[in-house]
Amino acid sequence: MSGESQHAPSTPALLYRGLRLRCPACGKSPVFQGWFTMHEACANCGRRFDRGPGYLLGSIYFNYGVTALLVTVLYFSLFYADWLGDTQLLVVAALVALLFPIWFFRYARALWIAFDERWDPWPNEEERRRIVTSRNSEISE
Ligand SMILES: [Zn+2]
Repeated sequence: MSGESQHAPSTPALLYRGLRLRCPACGKSPVFQGWFTMHEACANCGRRFDRGPGYLLGSIYFNYGVTALLVTVLYFSLFYADWLGDTQLLVVAALVALLFPIWFFRYARALWIAFDERWDPWPNEEERRRIVTSRNSEISE
């Protein structure tokens, strides 16, 4: 690609932007407007946050993976620490398994979008073509 002076953000920058729930492309605008509601695109650079049907499913893998790891580490740590009875341990692990993914939801999505930006920066060829086509049809209307 030549012409546009667009340099890709580094992996640590993408990770940092994801953890701050910011646009992965520019790092300026927030990805979310509420706890579960996302902005359609970045207010600063126009990067779309939901690139198409099924696009955000990948964030579920992030959320699941982090939750499973956390609950496993927590469970065995508490099990070997021997602070809680079996029932208490089960209740604590179940509560973490239920509540953590809700809290982590936004981070999983923002990190997924940042991960995607690393491997398939927006807009790709097809998206660029779609943007040009929609601009042309707006002009001709
Ligand atoms: Zn942006």
